[in-house]
Amino acid sequence: MTAPIYGRVALIGLGLIASSMAHAMKAAGLAGEIVGYAKSAESRAVALEIGFIDHAADTAAAAVVGADLVVLAVPVGAMEAIAAEIGPHLAPGATVTDVGSVKQAVITAVQPHIPEGVHFIPGHPIAGTEHSGPRSGFATLFRNRWWLLTPVPGTDPEATLRLRHLCEAMGAKVDEMDAPHHDLVLAVTSHTPHLIAYTMVGVADDLRRVTDSEVIQYSAAGFRDFTRIAASDPTMWRDVFLTNKDATLDILGRFTEELFALQRAIRLGDGAHLHAYFTRTRAIRRGIIEAGQDTAAPDFGRAPAASEGTTG
Ligand code: NAP
Repeated sequence: MTAPIYGRVALIGLGLIASSMAHAMKAAGLAGEIVGYAKSAESRAVALEIGFIDHAADTAAAAVVGADLVVLAVPVGAMEAIAAEIGPHLAPGATVTDVGSVKQAVITAVQPHIPEGVHFIPGHPIAGTEHSGPRSGFATLFRNRWWLLTPVPGTDPEATLRLRHLCEAMGAKVDEMDAPHHDLVLAVTSHTPHLIAYTMVGVADDLRRVTDSEVIQYSAAGFRDFTRIAASDPTMWRDVFLTNKDATLDILGRFTEELFALQRAIRLGDGAHLHAYFTRTRAIRRGIIEAGQDTAAPDFGRAPAASEGTTG
């Protein structure tokens, strides 16, 4: 056990990410006490029953009173209203962070509501599963995963360092970058792949009606992995695409061009093109394994309850 890094932590939203943070903080003694708020009374009751929060607040404003650290862990589209509500109740010297999957839109939505003397340091843990809600969290979710911080110019370096320590103490590796760069990187590594998975599962669902469940029954590894990604929370992913519009459309445009090139190679029987392409992509997979971001085990290295899943 280390000494607490923050005395009182307020979690706004009590889903996968917030509950995993709470479990990790409790396991390592990183917070003096944890107060939680979620939209529904049911989620607040579940969080109390599991015990990953010490107190539940009836409103977001009440939750942040006296908090040293406030974590906004709600869908990106809900951030602005929450920020407007809590702004007047934030303690001087407190740090506000968020875990949203998109950064520029969150800064635009939240920053104007942060009073003078309160540090706002946006963040994004690159860790997740396709599950959601207060029962889905676990203490090791962030272990060996990246946690990206996107502080705006002029942010107090000591406040950033303290938040960095918390992320590291929860097992994450921390990096800093600016928000537009973050949004472009995530459009490539997460957002566009999710859209492609949603599309592929949608196409197969249409086919299923034709083939009478054969798609489900004989589902092979490639398709099963798509279905796992496409089972991710619809609200969260709706908000990701609504708020990371430009970067996602840019990457999707490039994707479509490549797809047409592959389609043409298939039509023309251009095996050399296909082979060269698949050789290049195989090397990328090797790079991910060498960087420790996945394992080389078969079936994508997934044990039944593995921590690697989808990442927003
Ligand atoms: P989640 O499991 O669906 O939980 C979302 C939580 O936010 C729920 O507790 C929900 O309350 C609450 N909430 C929603 N709207 C609210 C509002 N208007 N006021 C107060 N609470 C509200 O979501 P999550 O996966 O933890 O995602 C949270 C954030 O982390 C999102 O911004 C997401 O982009 C980001 N993120 C997700 C992943 C991932 O893979 N899942 C990874 C990295 C970052 P109820 O329970 O009462 O509905």
